[in-house]
Amino acid sequence: MPEKNLQDMRILVVDDDAFTLKALERILLKAGVSKLICTDISSHALKFLSSRLEPVDILISDLNMPDIDGIELIRYISDLPRQVSLVLISGEDKRILATAESIAKERAIDVLGALTKPINSSQLLTILTSPELTKTVQSREVASSDLAKELRKAIKSRQIVPYYQPQVCAQTLKVVGLEALARWHHPERGLIPPNVFIPLAEQLSLINEVTELMYQQAIADLGAIHQQGCQLQLSVNFSAQCLVWLDVPERIQQTLKQHNIPPKYLTIEVTESLLNKDLATSLDILTRLRLKGLGLSIDDFGTGFSTMEQLKRIPFNELKIDQSFVHGATHNHVSSAILESSLNLAQKLDITTVAEGVEDQEDLEFVKQLGCHRIQGYLFAKPMPMDDLCSWLSQYPR
Ligand code: C2E
Ligand code: CA
Ligand code: CA
Repeated sequence: MPEKNLQDMRILVVDDDAFTLKALERILLKAGVSKLICTDISSHALKFLSSRLEPVDILISDLNMPDIDGIELIRYISDLPRQVSLVLISGEDKRILATAESIAKERAIDVLGALTKPINSSQLLTILTSPELTKTVQSREVASSDLAKELRKAIKSRQIVPYYQPQVCAQTLKVVGLEALARWHHPERGLIPPNVFIPLAEQLSLINEVTELMYQQAIADLGAIHQQGCQLQLSVNFSAQCLVWLDVPERIQQTLKQHNIPPKYLTIEVTESLLNKDLATSLDILTRLRLKGLGLSIDDFGTGFSTMEQLKRIPFNELKIDQSFVHGATHNHVSSAILESSLNLAQKLDITTVAEGVEDQEDLEFVKQLGCHRIQGYLFAKPMPMDDLCSWLSQYPR
């Protein structure tokens, strides 16, 4: 696929201030942008943004407009099937601009930058010509083309499989559980990691199929492991988008029954940023999962900004500390402070703790000393396919 440079990218500019709109138009035309749309009406912008035939690559938007404000616009674009990169502009206080930027990032939008008026043309062009932008736009092109079509096929032909990473008890170092992590065995491209295809599945609204495939295979594998006399726990990952179907708890329960596994052996991991979406429905589903006896884990703890709020609202019984605060924490006082206070908090709330990203002996000693319950990391094992797991389990010292 040929590389797309700034001249070929479709850029949409929205600002109700005629002077700024004209100035931006002049800068961009001078830079050779040929697919430029300028509008002073946000509702028109929404129409262009949702076009499937001519997708927008970059949105340059004012924060303050009469018909819809920049924050609402951010919410709208975070739900688009194809992502756009965003440049925010504002005549307001710099702090408001910074807050808007972090809201957009929290919603996983690719924010290129935030500029205050009057627009400085070289600042804008520096942002628009960054090599990362070219790469991001390129990966979106791939997403909307071949790989997207192939993902549909991959789900049907079960090319997506769970790999398993063991979790050990911090005190005894015995294996107590497994996390199922998705891998795509592509017939030509080889092994595709989840950070490539999970976001794609989310964009294409295929994440439900992927998740169902994952938990069904993982529960079946767990059934086989239990039959060998090894009563391990299993954790599976759920995206926010999977928590909109009200029958999720019943479906999982049915699969567990099929394989004779009591619900207490299964934990659903959800990331803390997920509840920005439909809070009432997610709460309904998550609470019913707990009522049915399943575990609920807050994943990547510490990375989002609404952490405390979510701990209060949702009946989590496990807290997973993100690897970025675990590996090397002894040498980083910010990480160690976050790690320590997260573990303290969990203890007070009587919640089980898991540290991910334990890579060496130093990490292990540190999290143990801080009272963490369970450990997951390369020090013990990387995620591996079912066959490898079985031989790993049989060789692991009991
Ligand atoms: P996660 O849920 O935070 O999973 C932990 C990630 O950390 C895994 O990456 C694992 O391989 C990696 N990891 C574990 N121990 C270590 C360590 O000691 N050092 C380092 N550097 N990394 C370690 P992986 O398998 O590439 O998964 C990436 C992410 O993809 C997951 O992060 C999860 O958010 C997502 N994901 C994977 N499978 C699924 C799935 O079935 N559904 C959904 N919705 N998301 C999934
Ligand atoms: Ca996880
Ligand atoms: Ca993580």
